[in-house]
Amino acid sequence: MDDLIKQAADDLAAAGKVTALTGAGISIESGIPPFRGKGGLWERFDPMEIAHIDAFMRDPARVWNILVKEMKKIVDIAVPNDGHKGLAKLEEMGKLKTVITQNIDGLHQAAGNTDVIEFHGTFAWQRCMDCSRKYETRQVDISVIPPRCSCGGILRPDAVFFGEMIPPDALRRSRQIASDCDVMLVVGTSAVVQPAALMPVIAKESGAKVVEINPERTPLTDEISDYLIPGGAGDVMNRIVAELEQIS
Ligand code: NAD
Ligand code: ZN
Repeated sequence: MDDLIKQAADDLAAAGKVTALTGAGISIESGIPPFRGKGGLWERFDPMEIAHIDAFMRDPARVWNILVKEMKKIVDIAVPNDGHKGLAKLEEMGKLKTVITQNIDGLHQAAGNTDVIEFHGTFAWQRCMDCSRKYETRQVDISVIPPRCSCGGILRPDAVFFGEMIPPDALRRSRQIASDCDVMLVVGTSAVVQPAALMPVIAKESGAKVVEINPERTPLTDEISDYLIPGGAGDVMNRIVAELEQIS
């Protein structure tokens, strides 16, 4: 493990352009459960079903009750952990420019990263399905489910459900940044949700080093990643930043 931390710090020190692709795993240490693996809700419900746009359209109140209300309770109070802070530190050190995140929790921005591509939109806002007016999630009254806009329309998260398109600008910029970086850090993603999981493939094909940080192996590990640093995002990022500070 020490060798891998040293290797990552060396690779970052040598790199001109560094980007990161993050997934739900980086927010676990902030108390936000991921979709896969252990953790309450998802052992009882299939996220692919409940977080699917068809499920929401069929029965918005059900999806609000099972998924959105729970997410709101958790995300409203979540704060960045050492994983997010480590990526913010890499930006401060002039190494990392853009974070491409699949997360909708806003924690990269809260940690201080200034260029965050929200590949799956954001949970910080709810949007009216009729008139598109937006409401800050923290301000939305959930005493009646589903909550409604002043026009009477139902509110939905301003995030991408399974079965919906990735915001075209986010996809276009992510592909461009992936194809133009020297190192891509892939942190806390199971790399099974497409097209996000394609970004490390694009980076690799364009000549970048792909460095995974994840306690588990993923479909990228053997084929795409140069190496996997097995561990939690907070601990690993702390160690990489400390090592990088010593050599730069
Ligand atoms: P995922 O739930 O499929 O996988 C989580 C990954 O994190 C796994 O590979 C797991 O091994 C790893 N992991 C576990 N603990 C970790 C730790 N301490 N540090 C680093 N990694 C750790 O997540 P995904 O690949 O992002 O796909 C799920 C989809 O659901 C995404 O598209 C995302 O939009 C959405 N989602 C977002 C949030 C959020 O915003 N925080 C939470 C749940 C789901
Ligand atoms: Zn409205």
